[in-house]
Amino acid sequence: MGIIFSYEDADDRTLAFAAGEAGDYIRRMLPDTEVSVQGGTKRGDTAPDWEIVLAVEPDGEPKDHFEIHAADGKGRIAGNHSRSVLIGVYHYLYLLGCRFLGPGKGLERVPRLGSADALAQDCSHTAGYYHRGVCIEGAESLENILDFVDWLPKIGYNTCFIQFQLPYTFLARWYQHEGNAHLEPEELTVEMTAAYTKRIVAEMKKRDLLLQQVGHGWTGESIGIPSMDWKAASYELSGRQRAMLAEVGGVRGFYHGIPMNTNLCYSKPEVVEAFSECVVRYAQVHPEVDYLHVWLADECNNICECEECRKAVPTDQYVHILNVIDRKLTERELDTKIVFLLYQELLWPPKKEKLENPDRFVLMFAPISRSFNSSYQLGGELPAVEEYRRNRIQLPVNVSQNMAYLKAWQEHFTGDSFVYDYHLGRAHYGDFGYVHISRILCEDIAQLGRMGLNGHISCQEMRAGLPNFLPNYVMGRKLFDLDCTFEELAEEYYQAAYGEDWKEVYTYLSGLSSLCSCDYFNNKGSRTDAAVAADMKKAREMTAAFAASESMAKERKDPVCAEFWRVLKYHCRVAAELEAAVGYLAEGKTEEAAQAWNRFSELICENELSFQPYLDVYRIREVSLNFTGFRRLCGCGK
Ligand SMILES: [Zn+2]
Repeated sequence: MGIIFSYEDADDRTLAFAAGEAGDYIRRMLPDTEVSVQGGTKRGDTAPDWEIVLAVEPDGEPKDHFEIHAADGKGRIAGNHSRSVLIGVYHYLYLLGCRFLGPGKGLERVPRLGSADALAQDCSHTAGYYHRGVCIEGAESLENILDFVDWLPKIGYNTCFIQFQLPYTFLARWYQHEGNAHLEPEELTVEMTAAYTKRIVAEMKKRDLLLQQVGHGWTGESIGIPSMDWKAASYELSGRQRAMLAEVGGVRGFYHGIPMNTNLCYSKPEVVEAFSECVVRYAQVHPEVDYLHVWLADECNNICECEECRKAVPTDQYVHILNVIDRKLTERELDTKIVFLLYQELLWPPKKEKLENPDRFVLMFAPISRSFNSSYQLGGELPAVEEYRRNRIQLPVNVSQNMAYLKAWQEHFTGDSFVYDYHLGRAHYGDFGYVHISRILCEDIAQLGRMGLNGHISCQEMRAGLPNFLPNYVMGRKLFDLDCTFEELAEEYYQAAYGEDWKEVYTYLSGLSSLCSCDYFNNKGSRTDAAVAADMKKAREMTAAFAASESMAKERKDPVCAEFWRVLKYHCRVAAELEAAVGYLAEGKTEEAAQAWNRFSELICENELSFQPYLDVYRIREVSLNFTGFRRLCGCGK
């Protein structure tokens, strides 16, 4: 009797987890029906009303694919990888009406079904791209990250990138409450971070998600200097260590004191040896890492100027090191994939060197300096790539300039690739409605294939949910299913989140978005800007009117709606302060801007715990101070 979710391969823990998830949700959707989960081939004596079998059917294709067939009491959810089955299970629940609207169980809509007849479904899907994931940035707790990992496959993602060897800095910013004087700092040690990382990785592996790791930090680590954050540190360097650092302006030392941002003297064989050994040793002791990122320093125009280094462009030196790493990995029979980075100096393609074993490598295009006011532009003539000038480069700003570098690189490398982009790393704070940035994301993702890229990893805060999590929702759903349109995704999201008055909210937040400039907030263009000032004046009126609307005053019984409206109410308060602050700044009224920013900062710091998963207080303060330009006005902040 009842419903059984079964899986034959009892050793596949992802299938076991997927069956457990299916069982848990269906129990909530059909509370009067007995629902059970069964692994292995043993069967009970009585036939169930429904049996749905989960199975992996490998087809040699890397891209996730699943098929759902359920009719007349029998069903099968099959996928080409274990994670594809899990994604298929969540998609099945989506077809039954579930909506996964954000990280955490409180943001899920799980409807009651009229009868078990609704279980009949038929659908198959192949992911739009192979690489679909997020990378940890900002400030977050262990729970924030675990909730996000849990959310990922529910909306189609397959990857999580844990930045650095340990994500210490991102956790420390939260636990030590950097930037928020209202909260008492809590302890976080490197050992605790290592234990937390183990838990995060275990939750990922349970879901068969792909793990990407590290990125920056190798330059310090390879000469024996720990590099887990962007902080300046004083170290006693031996003569040998100092000689390995890049010579910039006649001096070999840490760039502005920060190991993470310091390059090495890559022409020296001992540097190539130390760097490559450091990477390969890490790969050896971390077989759980599927994609290992190997990047240089996180700053530009600090490349070694010694006589030997001057003979080669930085990218040739980089490719040489990558080839050495590849040979060592092959010797040690490690099949870890290496992700290399097109960023800063490395946007310029190599002149002499070539990756000898392209299958080992994945190209990652990181257009960090791009504009977010418009999406990737394709077609038409691309501008020429400028000649590389040592330590005097200027990063490309508009999207077509960025595209020109990618195109130039693609003439040298045709292997696997993805974009690493920053919609939710900084740009989103400039869009108070989150509709614009979600639309840009959707349009960008639609174009990746034509750009010769096989996916998108989002460098982002996990707590990017004020006013809501539409951007990550659109990102995941669109990466998986290219047929989804932005309007469809936005409508289904708003409907599920806000209930009967969803159109009003969508109209308001769309209007607010249309008055915002991601680029202005991110320090692109003059700080005094009459158009921005006029838009912020309209935005203030719009927010005030919405805050005073009848819909806002209504009591919501449905707990999911009640939570989204609670957050929306808070968003109105936050947006009002920010609209005032940005408006004054753009008008050139520096004193008023400083005062408004202080009110904004106080508000979000005081309320951080009440809205912890929705807004990264550390990060929005940091961006508004260091990029938008409020620091110079008031000099406040912890
Ligand atoms: Zn050098």
